[in-house]
Amino acid sequence: MNRLLQTAFDYIDSHQDAMVSLWKNIVSIESPSADRQAVGRIAAHLDTYCDAMGMNRKMFSFEKAGPTFMAWTGPAKCKPIALIGHMDTVHPVGSFGPEPFLVNGDIVTGPGVLDCKGGVVAAIYAIRALKAAGYHDRQLKLILSGDEEVAHALSSGEGGKIFERETADCAAVFNCETGMPGGDVTIRRKGGAVFVIEIEGRAAHAGKEPQKGISAIRQAAEMILAIEKKTDFSGTAYNCGRIEGGKGANIVPDYCRFTVGVRYWTNAQYEEAEAFLCELCEHPTVAQTRCRMTPNGFYPAMEPVEKTDQLLAVYQQACLDMGLPAPNGTCQGGCSDSAFVARAGIPVLCSLGVMGEGPHTLQEHAEISSLPVQCKKMIATILALPEDF
Ligand SMILES: [Zn+2]
Repeated sequence: MNRLLQTAFDYIDSHQDAMVSLWKNIVSIESPSADRQAVGRIAAHLDTYCDAMGMNRKMFSFEKAGPTFMAWTGPAKCKPIALIGHMDTVHPVGSFGPEPFLVNGDIVTGPGVLDCKGGVVAAIYAIRALKAAGYHDRQLKLILSGDEEVAHALSSGEGGKIFERETADCAAVFNCETGMPGGDVTIRRKGGAVFVIEIEGRAAHAGKEPQKGISAIRQAAEMILAIEKKTDFSGTAYNCGRIEGGKGANIVPDYCRFTVGVRYWTNAQYEEAEAFLCELCEHPTVAQTRCRMTPNGFYPAMEPVEKTDQLLAVYQQACLDMGLPAPNGTCQGGCSDSAFVARAGIPVLCSLGVMGEGPHTLQEHAEISSLPVQCKKMIATILALPEDF
């Protein structure tokens, strides 16, 4: 084993308590996406932490969303590497009771303990260990979003764009999202987009002069059937997941709105889906209705890029060298910020955070012993990347 790698691994081995204590601190600052100030408190905590590590820092603030936090080491001769994740969780404050970081043997339970605060600690300690070992071949960037769990809707999509912008010069990106059992990594994910479709018709008395009415609900019904008929579970899938409209059985409804969730494997499929929905709204089938479509959340599809396989091979070899099985590169239905990175053509591996089960549920828990392991895999991969990668 080379000297840098050995020194960095030794650093991780001798700092396990410190890693768990940082983990505990940031899980104890509960941070649901909608609580801008709570997310800000974690960002402030990490800002102080990264300042003490001698890193440069920047906070991107938003009116409704918690901030995106970024920290980076000094410039270097080879292209930078970014380690990314998020600070927000899906859990309202207090969901896990008075003790949000509960340890039981190797298992720790808590809000965001798995998704993805354990991964945040792994990212920070990968950087710490590499710095301590005297590594400076590449600049290392840490980028953490504050509204990942709401598809960056609170920052009007800005949270996603920051990833795209700030990783554009990187050789590779590691997303410390929720790890998978066995340590498999994600190289492909579906994208997801949400649209709200509103329809206006004309109200009328349903008994006295129903012929004067124009039913917005009927128009919605015809559109929904047309939309759901387009679903192809191996490609683009549509889900009309919420509908509201109308006032009562005695009134022809003049208004209806419904929400369409679209999931797709490629960004070309997204373009097709958007064009299809636009076309549908421009040509209502119930005469004299008017339709309007508004986007309400967006993740591109995470598609493999030219160097994804090469990056995966380096990561797999790093695992083998550590005496671990070579992880598979897998596909997932759920979205993540890796998609913004991949869309810019940068190779990215996702699901490199701690391992556990039950994300987004009250059973969310992580394996403490997976923290140093996942951290070391990233360190070994960074050190093994060829200079011209
Ligand atoms: Zn999540």
